[in-house]
Amino acid sequence: MTLNNPEKLLSQAEELCQQRNVRLTPQRLEVLRLMTQQPGAISAYDLLDLLRVSEPQAKPPTVYRALDFLLEQGFIHRVESANSYVLCHHFEEPSHTSALFICDRCGLVTEKTTDGIEERLAKLAMESGFDLRHSVVEAHGLCAECKVVETCDSHDRCDHDHSIVVKKR
Ligand SMILES: [Zn+2]
Ligand SMILES: [Zn+2]
Ligand SMILES: [Zn+2]
Repeated sequence: MTLNNPEKLLSQAEELCQQRNVRLTPQRLEVLRLMTQQPGAISAYDLLDLLRVSEPQAKPPTVYRALDFLLEQGFIHRVESANSYVLCHHFEEPSHTSALFICDRCGLVTEKTTDGIEERLAKLAMESGFDLRHSVVEAHGLCAECKVVETCDSHDRCDHDHSIVVKKR
């Protein structure tokens, strides 16, 4: 998902941190800024490489601490099945269950918040006396664009990149 206005999102994050009285350090802000530039999910190590452009001394704990903070504030989500992180597009809803649709071909992650999912999970948890605190819904497949490429059968006449192999899960 490409953002049309990353600046707005960043100032929104700054504002929320002020309201919550937590410190969005320049480093944390930089990690968040880098994440707004990603079309999909990104791993901590790829983030570290990007962070090192502006902060050559950055080490893995630097990135993990920043990511923990951003997760806590609800600015990003962890994509558990892909061991990576993705920007949240619903800052204003502090604790939402979102369904993450992950493209196994290009890595695009689309977030959808759906009240239905949250309610169903809560109901299921309640029925079994389970104290639900956090849930993640991750769906794997192909994004609309990749689906077109995967179903294409004129490889010699198209300009798709058919060299990408879809990870089987
Ligand atoms: Zn979200
Ligand atoms: Zn895709
Ligand atoms: Zn093709």
